[in-house]
Amino acid sequence: MNTGRRSPDVLYITGAGHSGSSMLDVLLGSHPQISSTGEVHRLSLEPNSRLCACGTPIDNCKYWSGVRSTLSASLQQQIASWSALPVTGGREAFNGHIRRILGQTLLAVGSRSLVKQIRRFLASLEAQQLAASNSWALFDAIGNHDDTAIVIDSSKSPGRMKSLRVEKPHRLKALYLIRDGRAVAASEMRRKQVDFDTAVRSWVKANRRTRIMLRSMPREDVFHVKYEDLCAAPLETLNAIFTFLGVHRMQQLCIPREGSYHAIPGNPILLRGFKQISIDERWRDELSLEQLARFSKLTKRLAT
Ligand SMILES: [Zn+2]
Repeated sequence: MNTGRRSPDVLYITGAGHSGSSMLDVLLGSHPQISSTGEVHRLSLEPNSRLCACGTPIDNCKYWSGVRSTLSASLQQQIASWSALPVTGGREAFNGHIRRILGQTLLAVGSRSLVKQIRRFLASLEAQQLAASNSWALFDAIGNHDDTAIVIDSSKSPGRMKSLRVEKPHRLKALYLIRDGRAVAASEMRRKQVDFDTAVRSWVKANRRTRIMLRSMPREDVFHVKYEDLCAAPLETLNAIFTFLGVHRMQQLCIPREGSYHAIPGNPILLRGFKQISIDERWRDELSLEQLARFSKLTKRLAT
């Protein structure tokens, strides 16, 4: 552990689900200056039964126990379980549709001072900002424990991203991960048994929300990555991200072996591990010509 060090910056991976964020998170974590945390907003949700990527329940995982000790020392308060430190606002915080919309809109367009002024009147925002504040304490503990300069959070939710940014505007950069919507829709249909239109609309909605939230961030703090580029040229893509983050480039690609990392899984791939990076193009066989034509219509309104 290194005391008196600089607090880490956060790279927040945002975008639609099924876009490859779990794999990207772990690959970025192979850099010695970067900590991979996965969908870290899940850390405080049932940590005694939820599994870490190493296969152990989060509260029993040696890595997360080490981070918890570091955090307890800095807060001067013993944290026995991660459930004691909520790092997500949770659905229950958004009590009512109007309040939720209002809170998200405020985060999208509001300045930092405006959000701080108004949040005390809006329970949803207040809960989300408490989670954001706890999350920053967690990121500091991770950076301190690992002695790293960057912590990755691939929770994806654009609302969470903005809440974190409101707390520490100079310490959060965003990575917008985009994957071909046809591949995402096919993946969603496979896993959730939803119909094609529902899957495509969900992809459009997630990307729209993400773009709205990113609009209020300076361009130099946002990096765009295509999943297809990551698969075709992983080392080059990772090195472009490392340059964006201000850390050194790597000479060769390193795929962490199964069980050696402790990201919080949002995707089962983290528990299974992956031996190589290969593009998933099953959608080419799975989608019909009619569905492909319909895709163009359904996505017309999504600005490119
Ligand atoms: Zn673990």
